[in-house]
Amino acid sequence: MTCKAYTCHNSTNYSWNDYCSYHERCLSKFREKESVSDSDIRKLETFETWFSELCGYVISAKGSNYVINFAFFEPKCRSMGEKLTTYNRTGEIYWLSDAESKATEIKWKLKGDNPILAFYDNSYHSISSYILVSPEVVKQELPNSGIGLNIPFTLFIGARFYLGNPDSYLKPLDIVKVEKTERVGNSLFSWTTKTYYHVCIYLGNDKVFHMWHPTWVSKMDAQIGSWSDFMSNATGPIYRYHTPVPFKHYKKVIEHIAKADWADLWYGKYDLWNRNCEHLANVCKYGINWSEQIEEASSFVSWWMKSQGGLKRAFNGESFLNENYVNNGMSSSIILKNEIERSTGRIEKVLRDKTSAERRETREDLEWRYRVEIPNKSDCKVM
Ligand SMILES: [Zn+2]
Repeated sequence: MTCKAYTCHNSTNYSWNDYCSYHERCLSKFREKESVSDSDIRKLETFETWFSELCGYVISAKGSNYVINFAFFEPKCRSMGEKLTTYNRTGEIYWLSDAESKATEIKWKLKGDNPILAFYDNSYHSISSYILVSPEVVKQELPNSGIGLNIPFTLFIGARFYLGNPDSYLKPLDIVKVEKTERVGNSLFSWTTKTYYHVCIYLGNDKVFHMWHPTWVSKMDAQIGSWSDFMSNATGPIYRYHTPVPFKHYKKVIEHIAKADWADLWYGKYDLWNRNCEHLANVCKYGINWSEQIEEASSFVSWWMKSQGGLKRAFNGESFLNENYVNNGMSSSIILKNEIERSTGRIEKVLRDKTSAERRETREDLEWRYRVEIPNKSDCKVM
């Protein structure tokens, strides 16, 4: 008997099996997440994309409809366990031939430069409750080691957090957020703390891409830095944000990181509301020029504005010019395709902000260097 999986020419192990041993294994993994019986399966196909060798879909009958479930498998890699992510965002389909052509269309889009768009049409979706959440973006708290207490003269903040072996827990181009706490106010008896998340794109080999300056916010810009800089003064948990299906081709992400670094992007223009570290990571990695922390803070601010009758300073003393202009004027719902195009167009037009800067390397040199620095992914192809 020949395996029933689409275009598979392997033989089945036993005459009563429908699938070869490879596709049997695929299906048993699939059933750990989705319940489907053999008799309901109408089509199974496995295929490769540039980001994974282990992609597939299952079309199954469900009542009078057909359901397409796409699946992406990531094998165990260093300290990251194996992971199967499934997507079912295709709506109700009444004909098998429609299901088959829809699945084929999605398969080809997944091989393109913006694989995630395979699952999005041209309608509005909420960023924080639909696009940047599971299964699109998988959030995971990383283990950490407290490295002693940070007790300056007048201030108790708490245990410092650190993760010393990031390559064991992160894949290149994952976004990482770490909680930091800073003291606000100078007097011994009147101070408060503000807690926020510092955000980077992890590059591999202990290198990160982030908005950074060791001491002055006004001197921050987009740059490549070290993992220890990124983690400095961390006071809370570390989170990994991983995309089983990438938003942008990794070569584009690296090109945009190189461009931002070369241009000293946003030097002297740091703006908590529109150009913070999270905007930078999100625009390079996802193509979405938006910050979750600002989305959450701005709902608080609008309430506060009403009670204060006009607001000049908010968010623990940071000032901003236009109270209403936050998150680059974006609504909380977007058409994903349009936003990726818009933000990509903007970052590709970036010129050097810091014209006095002397750089020996060209942008192309940097791009090449970052591509080389990202470790070989033969053991974990998914970004
Ligand atoms: Zn097979």
